[in-house]
Amino acid sequence: MDDGARIPQRRRLVTELPGPRSRELEHRRGRAVAQGVSSVLPVYVAEASGAILVDVDGNSLVDLGSGIAVVGVGHTAPRVVERASSQVARLTHSCFMVNPYEAYVAVCEELNELTPGSHEKRSALFNSGAEAVENAVKIARHATGRHAVVAFDHAYHGRTNLAMALTAKNMPYKDGFGPFASSIYRAPMSYPFRDPAGMTGDEAAARAIAVVESQVGARNLACVVVEPIQGEGGFVVPASGFLPALAAWCAEHGVLLVADEIQTGFARTGDWFACDDEGVVPDLVTTAKGIAGGLPLAGVTGRAEIMDAVHAGGIGGTYGGNPVACEAALGALTTMRELDLPAAARRVGAIVAGRLAALRSSSPSVGDARGRGAMQAIELVRPGTTEPDAAAARSVANRCHRDGVVVLTCGTYGNVVRLLPPLVIEESLLADALDVLVTAVGALDG
Ligand SMILES: *Cc1c(COP(=O)(O)O)cnc(C)c1O
Repeated sequence: MDDGARIPQRRRLVTELPGPRSRELEHRRGRAVAQGVSSVLPVYVAEASGAILVDVDGNSLVDLGSGIAVVGVGHTAPRVVERASSQVARLTHSCFMVNPYEAYVAVCEELNELTPGSHEKRSALFNSGAEAVENAVKIARHATGRHAVVAFDHAYHGRTNLAMALTAKNMPYKDGFGPFASSIYRAPMSYPFRDPAGMTGDEAAARAIAVVESQVGARNLACVVVEPIQGEGGFVVPASGFLPALAAWCAEHGVLLVADEIQTGFARTGDWFACDDEGVVPDLVTTAKGIAGGLPLAGVTGRAEIMDAVHAGGIGGTYGGNPVACEAALGALTTMRELDLPAAARRVGAIVAGRLAALRSSSPSVGDARGRGAMQAIELVRPGTTEPDAAAARSVANRCHRDGVVVLTCGTYGNVVRLLPPLVIEESLLADALDVLVTAVGALDG
């Protein structure tokens, strides 16, 4: 089969952005779609392939966001399209809880195989990342008989009530949406750029554990939920040693370690999962985003005895593990293996990290450049300080958007520009898009 892209992998603008058709649609949207649902750039997409989005005016944009880390295998990846379309003609839904089907079982087998650790595992499938996180907490509470849950500063775990309670940032995620789920506690994260200079991962873990021991008490604690590299919170890579020390403390106290690999998973960071980098083996892993090449699917995978502690019927949902989404996931996983996407992520990461490190050296507005694999970012600051500069991040992103390169911002302070390219992006296209970013950052310094 042909793994080539359907659409030329070239940036090409034929109108200003947004073009006239996009502006028309934006006008219609204003009268039909709730304002609470917003978009990064009002350029309406008609189709996409590989790392190129084609808008309704015929412009080709480079996608360095992958629909928020979803289409790691590329847009409309051939094996995803093939398996999902053939499934949609055979069976769209039966509800796994009514009549099961093979693809659900096959995806669980894959998750059990690929997630960190060689212990006996079980998985359950859901529709979204937030739902997976909620279920991981349900399972952890049920299995331990304890109620408290610890999450970190800068954490993002989704927008449902419990996930929102775990999420750290008020605006836009939580403002006015309380009251939130109870028994959630927050611990300080390892954030090397903002921690005291020279703080090690062990010291950062000890700082977090001290908060947990004094404010919660291990015997009340069901689980610690952590993103091994924080996504929405600013691509915060904890100091090495932080996660292993946290995992060791959890194991010693019968606290379950839940790794939220929803943004970091499926080859994005150069390993199958970000926990693999330091050999950390979580008790439960949540997955979503990159799992199914763009179809909605999520999973919770964990130690068999923990997952199987829940009584029959205790977890599930009407659509969780929908057969079309499961077939798409099987197609995406085949692509990840055939094209060795962990290696591709390392290659892409080396190219991006090189360009971002050069930016940090040359621009006083770039305080930090960090990431792992194809998950890289720059943190923008007022020149010569560590003071966050959200306006600079917006200005860089806006200029990239104007020139047809989709980048996303993130961070507790809104001052991080992040890159999440499809792992299959061609090197010449990536170089072109990075040139645009470098120019946009250069414009900050006048
Ligand atoms: C996106 C994300 C979620 C929420 O996933 P949804 O599918 O949007 O509900 C949870 N955790 C992390 C780390 C994420 O990046």
